[in-house]
Amino acid sequence: PIILAIESSCDETSAAIIKKGKVLNNIIATQSVHENYGGVVPELASRAHQQNIVPVVEEALKGSGVNKQDLDAVAFTKGPGLLGALLVGSSFAKSLAQGLNIPLIGVNHMQAHILAHFIDDPKPTFPFLCLTVSGGHTQIVSVKDYLDMEIVGETQDDAVGEAFDKSAKLLDLPYPGGPLIDKYAQNGNAHAFDFPDSEVAELDFSFSGIKTAFLYFLRDRLKEDQNFIKNNLNDICASLQRCLVNMLTKRLIKASKKYGIKEVAIAGGVSANSGLRKRLDELAKEYHWNVYIPDFEYCTDNAGMIAMAAHYKYLAGDFEPLTTSPDPRMKF
Ligand code: ATP
Ligand code: MG
Ligand code: FE
Repeated sequence: PIILAIESSCDETSAAIIKKGKVLNNIIATQSVHENYGGVVPELASRAHQQNIVPVVEEALKGSGVNKQDLDAVAFTKGPGLLGALLVGSSFAKSLAQGLNIPLIGVNHMQAHILAHFIDDPKPTFPFLCLTVSGGHTQIVSVKDYLDMEIVGETQDDAVGEAFDKSAKLLDLPYPGGPLIDKYAQNGNAHAFDFPDSEVAELDFSFSGIKTAFLYFLRDRLKEDQNFIKNNLNDICASLQRCLVNMLTKRLIKASKKYGIKEVAIAGGVSANSGLRKRLDELAKEYHWNVYIPDFEYCTDNAGMIAMAAHYKYLAGDFEPLTTSPDPRMKF
């Protein structure tokens, strides 16, 4: 099948074409309006999606040499995400499917982050564990098949991407700060400072403790030296990143032991983090894991991953009625 997929769950407007399971292209328009606000402003996100969606879809079609008439289905992100943002993509997809008289496919965004692993080689084999780490989620997922997944651990409060971004904000870095912490960390001493893990039930995560600890740490150090951040930015970022990454990998090791699974993948925006990638390579050697890390292009939000999920849903005959609506808190 040839499918057009649309992603609009947060602050990226994206469209991709997939043909026989091969993603032909993946057009992403990133919204920069949020930089000034230290986070995504839902109202502005919806407006930007409305401006971007037509040109982004046209570019995806044109760049892949596919005509609208060639499409076998239209897919969209049904949830989870911001309601107003999801509505733009879903309304567009619904009208296009109706106009072309082809089926509509509703995709779960978190499932799609995981299925991004099937866009390129090497592909994980089932069953595998996926640590999904993004701006809104932190999950360990047991993946039994393309569309058969179970969350075995997740955050009780903030997502790890949020922990990165909020910490960056305390360091006066612009949004999203995760990639900047990563950048400064590369030239810092990761053992200069230490921040606490919060133990919660078995495979679950909690990031509110480290966030507060980081806030008080900066407040106390700034009292002694008002240039503390400026003079120690690399070390602060490297140390914080080491602690956040350890919180993630500690649970992943536990999960691998508990389920006896050595196929281990990471997905979501934070899987772009170089500290996490490096740590995973070390763990692969130590625990004899096969580790799967997606290309940077497919870590953060993109329609290529929505297209991949749509491909498998199409094969399973799992379609959506035209009366469907987005589900901001969608579960697997
Ligand atoms: P969700 O997928 O949970 O709905 P989202 O779509 O907003 O949330 P993504 O686009 O998958 O999330 O990821 C964005 C997050 O990834 C942001 O928090 C961003 O700071 C973080 N991120 C991106 N690159 C890096 C990096 N190199 N290091 C750390 N964090 C990063
Ligand atoms: Mg984003
Ligand atoms: Fe995402």
